[in-house]
Amino acid sequence: MESCTLTELHRAHGAAEAIRSLEGHPIGYGDLNAVVDRIAGQLRGLEIARSDRVAIVLPNGAEAAAATLGVAAAATAAPLNPNYTQPEFRFYLHDLDARAVVTLADGPDLSGLGPDGIIQLRLGGSALGDLALHHNRSAIPQEPAGAPEAADIALVLHTSGTTARPKQVPLTHHNLALSARNIAATLDLTPEDRALNVMPLFHIHGLVAGLFASMAAGGAVVCTPGFDALRFNRWLTEAQPTWFTAVPTMYQLLLARAGRAGRERSALRFTRSSSAAMPPVVLRAAEQLFRAPFIESYGMTEAAHQMTTNPLPPGMRKPGSVGIDGITEVRVLAENGSPASAGVAGDIVIRGECVTPGYVANPEANAAAFTDGWFRTGDIGHLDEDGYLFITGRSKEVINRGGTKISPREIDEVLLDHPDIEQAVAFAVPHRWLGEEVGVAIIGSESLTEAEIKSFAAERLVASRVPTRVFFVDEIPKGPTGKLQRVGLAEKLGITAAD
Ligand code: AMP
Repeated sequence: MESCTLTELHRAHGAAEAIRSLEGHPIGYGDLNAVVDRIAGQLRGLEIARSDRVAIVLPNGAEAAAATLGVAAAATAAPLNPNYTQPEFRFYLHDLDARAVVTLADGPDLSGLGPDGIIQLRLGGSALGDLALHHNRSAIPQEPAGAPEAADIALVLHTSGTTARPKQVPLTHHNLALSARNIAATLDLTPEDRALNVMPLFHIHGLVAGLFASMAAGGAVVCTPGFDALRFNRWLTEAQPTWFTAVPTMYQLLLARAGRAGRERSALRFTRSSSAAMPPVVLRAAEQLFRAPFIESYGMTEAAHQMTTNPLPPGMRKPGSVGIDGITEVRVLAENGSPASAGVAGDIVIRGECVTPGYVANPEANAAAFTDGWFRTGDIGHLDEDGYLFITGRSKEVINRGGTKISPREIDEVLLDHPDIEQAVAFAVPHRWLGEEVGVAIIGSESLTEAEIKSFAAERLVASRVPTRVFFVDEIPKGPTGKLQRVGLAEKLGITAAD
């Protein structure tokens, strides 16, 4: 497919509405392009180069959307969860070797947590269209940034690895722009569409499906501060989106509040979910609630998000399936490495122009992930006779807490710093709504309490990574080879979903 950059996506449209926050005035594509040029020019004015990493630590919203596009136009954007703890910010800013970090004018002071010489840039302006960066309370002069090339790295995101250290996933402008176009095409997005983005803009789902896909189609995006089940109905009524994308847990929370007013005036053309498995019963309830077709897709950071999707009607949607592949080729491999027959489960592998060029400075991870140009997703599933993919399991250790991915080893490592803990093994525990939550098996001193372990973890880890279930054990069950096997550990310990 023809090469493209993210910058070209939003430059292709004129005055039509581009982005807005819930309360604020919308800005059109022309104004968005001016903001992007200003931020890009300011980065160049600070002598920040295209290959330099600029961390973005902003609350979810239209400012974060504009800043991410602006940074990606001149450098490599590295959006981080603004709720990280200090030790986490220290790790990520160092791991990225960030040249600069962008926060709001009244955001936290992060320069002391980054590598030597990191510049903290404050984003502000009286209106969305006036956004600019400031350094030490002064305006920053602009230099021409030039246009990015398709092969330039626009974005670096971390994924939870099989080791304690998260891996850096670089994504080129081409990877992202193509993925955005592909999503826009599969969802038939047009300039008439308006998305309500409730997904975080530091995760691939919110970035590519929630924001960039609309940029590819010239559609509008209403940026929210993040999902909020209590306010969602009001947002639907006020913003009148034609679609939104979310994770299954959000649908479950909305269904739990079903029956409230607001839906009858909805302009929804369809609703979408990705990042975790959508139970078919929830899918059917969501279709009734929103009176619109529901689309489940399968996404992954390394693939610049969408790998497969159920098509919009009149295409066939199959509940329980993540749909069919498109621009990214998907195969299921049998144990001998050849394509598995329909109905036979195996490793899900992908290939194509949206797939990352490879983890940064991590030859072992790349060797393990890529075989003959195919990337192993770490997911297990089968294709049916119609080419629809069903995900049935996972070979990777990651915990999928309602779409948020958590590396269990990162949690072990933090807990092992506790003087009274001898062994700590984090693992996925089934949860009714979240799909999975974080459990931890502990061997340690008898004086240890669950509360102590949780508060020790909470000081060092963002809330989503803090174990919610703690099990004191005498022994941690091993697999047949004597090796620790986290996958399936909950079953071995006889753990079921808590009420
Ligand atoms: P992330 O990199 O955070 O997007 O996570 C990617 C992983 O999320 C995939 O490898 C799957 O394990 C999981 N995932 C994404 N979409 C789905 C889905 N529709 N159903 C089940 N698992 C999913």
